[in-house]
Amino acid sequence: GFNCGIVGLPNVGKSTLFNALTQTVAAQAANYPFCTIEPNVGRVAVPDPRLQQLATIGKSQKIVPTSLEFVDIAGLVRGASKGEGLGNQFLGNIREVDAIVHVLRCFEDGDVTHVDGAVDPLRDAETVETELMLADLDSLEKRVPALQKKARGNDKEAAAQLALIEAILPALQAGRSARTAVPKGEEEAARRLGLMTSKPVLYVCNVDEGSAATGNEHSARVMEFAKAHGAPAVIVSAAIESEIAQMAEGDRGEFLDTLGLQDSGLDRIIRAGYGLLGLITYFTVGPKETRAWTIHKGMTAPQAAGVIHGDFERGFIAAETIGFDDYIALNGEQGAKEAGKMRVEGKTYLVRDGDVMLFRFNV
Ligand code: GDP
Repeated sequence: GFNCGIVGLPNVGKSTLFNALTQTVAAQAANYPFCTIEPNVGRVAVPDPRLQQLATIGKSQKIVPTSLEFVDIAGLVRGASKGEGLGNQFLGNIREVDAIVHVLRCFEDGDVTHVDGAVDPLRDAETVETELMLADLDSLEKRVPALQKKARGNDKEAAAQLALIEAILPALQAGRSARTAVPKGEEEAARRLGLMTSKPVLYVCNVDEGSAATGNEHSARVMEFAKAHGAPAVIVSAAIESEIAQMAEGDRGEFLDTLGLQDSGLDRIIRAGYGLLGLITYFTVGPKETRAWTIHKGMTAPQAAGVIHGDFERGFIAAETIGFDDYIALNGEQGAKEAGKMRVEGKTYLVRDGDVMLFRFNV
């Protein structure tokens, strides 16, 4: 599965958000087999209104959404890269996630201590990002001597890795993230370096309850900062999210309305996390179930089939494919077929978000 690590300084609302995420999930109907995997790892359903539309037309007995994992990563303090606090454990956990959800405290509350005195989300962001950059810098510098030796011995792979590291090091030394220095086309090689500051990041502004719809001056500064760095950002109130999480699903809409919100902040975090990871969804629709499947943007039809079962990929023949809009407009498979909107796609087809697919394969 794909996962997002929730990071941030202590007392910014990480656990509150994480618990809200996993409680929402626990409250869902029995059809949703999602759970807390470990105390700090939760799997959540990715909300997608298209599922219900497809299931209605396809007369499916049940709906199975796709899911995303969130990891609550505790222990980041100033000095973590030097082993302060739970430094090493923290850094190990964060290296393993695919993307980072960075929670920033944007709420004032005299009863909740701020580790650095006053509320200042940009200073906090800098504190966290500095620790991550220092850890990345340390990890790359340690690798250089051995790679240089191998490169001198004509090891092509080592030479390529060394060149990549040497392209990234100056950025880290100048206080910029590795992300800003990865050469075009080398994203995959960079990903294999296991750096934290090359992972995609989503900023979450945790605001007070009264500012959930509008944001406040703190979150405004974060939104501007995120925009300047080309990173997505969302405004949520962890306190509200934890209230919503305890409500029956049917009561949530009205509660959100009274707060002037269109959807829950958690839904926005989940969807943003999904986008951050470069993921898209295709669907299978049948009488038993309508189901969403997660793939990377750019996957071919056989690769997408492989997400369901390895045999589907190995024995792939073709994929009967209907675009989501056609499926809905033409009232399902039969209508789409009659209108000539069911395409038979082959091995090189790049699956698109929303495709409704039926795979033909040899066993
Ligand atoms: P963590 O250390 O980042 O995991 O932070 P917690 O989730 O444990 O939250 C720290 C404290 O801040 C707790 O007492 C929370 O109840 C409180 N808190 C979290 N989010 C909010 C919020 O949106 N508004 C207010 N007023 N308090 C919050």
